Amino acid sequence: MRVVIIGNGVAGITCAMTVRKHDKDASITVLSGETEYFFSRTALMYAYMDKLTRRDLEPYERSEYARQDIKLIKGWMVDCNTQTQQVVLDNGERIPYDKLVYAVGAKPNMFPWDGMDQVKEGKVHFVSMQDLEQCERLTPSTQHAVVIGGGLIGIELVECLRHHGVKVTFLVRESYYWPMALGEEEATFVTAEMRHHGVDVRLTEEMTRVEVDDNGRVKAVHTNKGNVIECQMLGIAAGVRPNIDRLKDFSQPPELGRGIVVNEYLETPQKNVYAAGDCAEIHFPGQERPTTELIWYSAKRQGAHVARNIVGQREVYKPPLFFNSSKFFEIEYTTVGAVQTLPEGSPTIYRKMPGQPISQRIAHDGTKVLGFNMLGSRWDHEVLEDWVLEARSPQYVLENLHKAQYDVEFGRAKLDNMQTTEIPLVR
Ligand SMILES: Cc1cc2nc3c(=O)[nH]c(=O)nc-3n(C[C@H](O)[C@H](O)[C@H](O)COP(=O)(O)OP(=O)(O)OC[C@H]3O[C@@H](n4cnc5c(N)ncnc54)[C@H](O)[C@@H]3O)c2cc1C
Repeated sequence: MRVVIIGNGVAGITCAMTVRKHDKDASITVLSGETEYFFSRTALMYAYMDKLTRRDLEPYERSEYARQDIKLIKGWMVDCNTQTQQVVLDNGERIPYDKLVYAVGAKPNMFPWDGMDQVKEGKVHFVSMQDLEQCERLTPSTQHAVVIGGGLIGIELVECLRHHGVKVTFLVRESYYWPMALGEEEATFVTAEMRHHGVDVRLTEEMTRVEVDDNGRVKAVHTNKGNVIECQMLGIAAGVRPNIDRLKDFSQPPELGRGIVVNEYLETPQKNVYAAGDCAEIHFPGQERPTTELIWYSAKRQGAHVARNIVGQREVYKPPLFFNSSKFFEIEYTTVGAVQTLPEGSPTIYRKMPGQPISQRIAHDGTKVLGFNMLGSRWDHEVLEDWVLEARSPQYVLENLHKAQYDVEFGRAKLDNMQTTEIPLVR
């Protein structure tokens, strides 16, 4: 069996390694245009801040691929013939497949801002290795940067720029930072943390126009509040979406919606063709809206799932309970469960350490917990997940919260003296 996987991110490489685990004889080829070797996209910021080398970003030794007989090719897939079952590369080479997996990831959102078509230099994203190179190249000639988009990638880019001594204005369209994920209370102290690190955070302020100099380099950003912010770099971090634009030009593209359309087995309607990770748009029977999961752990899980289907263990994919962890500058962040999808006004128990950026939010429906937003200390997400899956009561969770905390040396905060209130979630 010849398995060809497009994309060497966590979905693609997990798929390759899982096929190998079950099938010693399969021919496995992984193609990627971005880098030769799999790297941890979530750790890009540490490379930008010179805390990790490029090589440190690679989760596996390079020899591991040869050891597992996984062939890596650096190049872009530019077409596909689903009759002859061949993938076409940008160098004209054709690779035949018996099973084809799209694991092509996500790309940054762009909007038709005024003046953007004039920009030749100074606009950056922070998603790919090429974006990192671009950021590094422009940093020495940047005194002031404007970053737009109040989410996780935006704050990471902001932190990297501050690390290099660049003045940063962070434009957040909403009335507080990242309302999709945080309650207003947490967002308020995350914003204070950014300001403490010298970031000029501006809420409810949006870019309306970008201005360039004679060489086409970003010169200033105009905002809806009539402000003109002089800058040499414009970071656009307004979310990501499935990376399907290139596929639209294929002679026989897979079915495309917001992402690559797959059924509950992660199969496309094309024979022997699958999709996994950020690019997959999953249509579950009876579910009104399709599912896209643009996060690391889901991409990994989907990659492994497709692999098992390929080797004959065909099962319905079950999305995991949502989990994410990150940092807002120095503030640790762990989220588990449904907090991001709960409607405004949902009941939550909110615990806050007076005077410190430490809080815990426990979302519930009166009888069982639904999710957690934990800031300022480190938590074992598996324990929190179990409590949601076991439908534990809010009372049980409050009494046992200490069991989900990591040891002190890993950032455990003392839970005594927390102020506990029942408050509705504000979005
Ligand atoms: C800065 C940043 C921080 C993040 N932080 C978090 C976090 O804290 N927690 C979390 O859960 N998630 C985080 N994410 C998201 C997470 O990184 C992604 O969900 C995950 O990497 C997706 O993996 P993937 O394998 O689906 O796709 P990708 O890692 O995007 O891999 C897809 C690969 O396919 C290649 N490709 C695309 N088209 C073609 C083609 N035609 N031919 C050849 N190759 C092609 C791409 O170039 C890319 O290399 C973060 C993302 C970014 C950018």
